[in-house]
Amino acid sequence: MRQIEIYDTTLRDGAQTEDIAFSVEDKLRITEKLDELGVHYIEGGWPGANPKDIEYFRKVGKLKLKNASIVAFGSTHRPKFKVSEDALMKALLDSKVKIITIFGKSWDFHVKEALKISLNENLDIIHNSVSYLKKNVETVFYDAEHFFDGYKDNQKYALKSLLAAQDAGADCLVLCDTNGGTMPNEIKKIIEEVRKNVHTPLGIHCHNDSECAVANSVIAIESGAAHVQGTINGLGERCGNANLCSVIPDLQIKLGMKCIGDQMRRLRDVSRFVTEIANLRHFKRQPFVGDSAFAHKAGMHVSAVRKRPETYEHIRPEVVGNSQRVLISDLAGKSNILRKAEEFGIRLDPDSPQIQDIVTKLKNLENEGFQFEGAEASFELLMKKSLGLHKRFFDLIGFRIIVEKRQEGEEALSEATIMVKVGGRIEHTAATGNGPVNAIDHAMRKALDKFYPELKDVKLHDYKVRVLTAGRGTSAKVRVLIESGDEEKRWGTVGVSENIIEASYQALVDSIEYKLLKEER
Ligand SMILES: [Zn+2]
Repeated sequence: MRQIEIYDTTLRDGAQTEDIAFSVEDKLRITEKLDELGVHYIEGGWPGANPKDIEYFRKVGKLKLKNASIVAFGSTHRPKFKVSEDALMKALLDSKVKIITIFGKSWDFHVKEALKISLNENLDIIHNSVSYLKKNVETVFYDAEHFFDGYKDNQKYALKSLLAAQDAGADCLVLCDTNGGTMPNEIKKIIEEVRKNVHTPLGIHCHNDSECAVANSVIAIESGAAHVQGTINGLGERCGNANLCSVIPDLQIKLGMKCIGDQMRRLRDVSRFVTEIANLRHFKRQPFVGDSAFAHKAGMHVSAVRKRPETYEHIRPEVVGNSQRVLISDLAGKSNILRKAEEFGIRLDPDSPQIQDIVTKLKNLENEGFQFEGAEASFELLMKKSLGLHKRFFDLIGFRIIVEKRQEGEEALSEATIMVKVGGRIEHTAATGNGPVNAIDHAMRKALDKFYPELKDVKLHDYKVRVLTAGRGTSAKVRVLIESGDEEKRWGTVGVSENIIEASYQALVDSIEYKLLKEER
């Protein structure tokens, strides 16, 4: 079995993603997660390029890593300095790591236009930089920037630049598709040709501008490269880097190569963790690790995967830490309902007429604008109500919300009062909030947490409003989706009405009831 080196650059190339700013603390936490995942190398940053990365390298040495080695990234020395006098080289060595990656120019166009030096001078710079670092650290990887574009333009020179790094003792020559424009067939052809000219192991570093980064990485490995660079979730500048969340399972599951072993079942967790730290929403349709990657919606598909999952699933979701999901929508059939019942722990006879009742109810509600794909908790309640398994925890006697703006330029105030009955007792409370929905949420919890203290653990994570009937202006119907959670899990609920407060109230009540039912289990 071929062993492939996995080199993660989420913290360096990935940190160049638009809208992302990792703090030093974030980078350290991601480092620990990547180590648990079992990647071999973690490129931590570019010391010397920014103070944040210097601090990272100062602190990362204190982490107890089990699998990964930390790598510092930098460039070949600058033309106007001698290698031993370049402050950037010094900063690399000051990072105190044993492995350093530097990039250099392999495209004659860049040497002439960007560096404005002679082609031979550039070869000297590559050679001197690699050999200087090799005298000071164990391992030096050489990133050949724009290698594929350079090779297509001036094959001889691109190869010479690799030989300069090889002669200086580089441990791996990483061919970079920096502009992300190369096609898989070109990658294959070029790597096969390069292998005839160099004996140092080859690596691959692809960008995704033609959406071929994963395919290019995979074909590079198949063509003989032994080291692959990428980022979690394909983060990176412009369209991102090769997505390791796809590259790893492709190599390991499809091609039978050895990458990170059984730790691959942490892949989904790590993917979500990085999204969370980056303060983004996780991409549902992301292959392998997305929420939709193994989600089945059409009734016919659900009926088949219930019998044999491989009918509509290319791998077993558990091997990457994902799981099969069955969606509830107007495309749902009996199988979806049965599968959901199983998931909710409800016993349901496959021949029961109640199933058809639930399907009809579901379709009617979807017609009114409800949507249960993001609101499975509401669907569970709906199912329990239809089957007579629901329990009322409280009755609403009434609520009132006052929104008051007393003068121009002053913030509006929202205050809600609510009356509920629990058992025989009536509770009447008031609360304020930064908006009417926030105020009713506060008032409702204040009224109920005397009876149900477990509600104190519930937090509102997301609140989304969608206008359903376009063209009707302010009298349009709206759908509110709420995501709530406690320490254990998150759940979604839904409400629909022409009144945004009413729609929000429905979703809030479902969220509370779901939590209380969950605690009773
Ligand atoms: Zn890159």
